[in-house]
Amino acid sequence: MACILLDIDGVLHVSGEPIPGGADAVSELRHAGHALRFVTNNSTRPRARLAEELREMGFTLEPEELQTTPGAAVRELEGKRVLALVMPSIVPDLEGIELVGDHAEAVLVGGCDETIEPNQVFSYMNLSRAFSEIQMGASLYCLHKNKWWQTSLGPMLDSGAFVAGLEYATGVEATVLGKPSPSYFAAALDALGAEPELTWLVTDDVEADVRGARLFGMKTALVRTGKFRPEALESADTPPDIVVSSLAHFPSLLEEDLAGGWAP
Ligand SMILES: [Mg+2]
Repeated sequence: MACILLDIDGVLHVSGEPIPGGADAVSELRHAGHALRFVTNNSTRPRARLAEELREMGFTLEPEELQTTPGAAVRELEGKRVLALVMPSIVPDLEGIELVGDHAEAVLVGGCDETIEPNQVFSYMNLSRAFSEIQMGASLYCLHKNKWWQTSLGPMLDSGAFVAGLEYATGVEATVLGKPSPSYFAAALDALGAEPELTWLVTDDVEADVRGARLFGMKTALVRTGKFRPEALESADTPPDIVVSSLAHFPSLLEEDLAGGWAP
């Protein structure tokens, strides 16, 4: 048996379009007795809705199997006064955090989605407010620091650009709560009772996820779907253990590995 962290965006689906054979691959992994956890930096939809959407795409999973970034934020910031620049839809998942407009102990930056909400959430006024709070001593957190994500319309700018801008303007470094931070992976592995050496991460992101997971001691499989780019793989300083054309092909390669069929 192996423990497997499955990235959602770009591995299970792209912009709501399921990856062909992905749902069957998830079922196959479950039936083979592997422990699964679904990991995502999605910071725009509540956990219950994420699970529901994945079910509608044909994947079998419970909301509790999702490792989300708002959950990581609550673990870190519970009881604190927080200025949150996040999509309104995830506010219910931040229960336990006191959301404030000023005198914040921390600034929390979430990710963008494909709606018009980012226009308001990342307005000049809000970014400047965040800047002032950090200048007055608030610490800076982000759900993730992604530069961009792949949509059906092509790559779109993500909030990592705003996090980097606040870091640049304040000289304060942000604490990343989502993938590929060690605390996020540690929480995901805790939930499975897993050891890094016996755990796989399946992801479409060689630059951030593969690098972070390998530094954490996990094995990694890179899929050629979602945000996969051949040039990013070629220039990666920490390459993945294996590259598969899509999630559909991962279960058979995993069985080969567990049987000692291929040398890493
Ligand atoms: Mg991904």
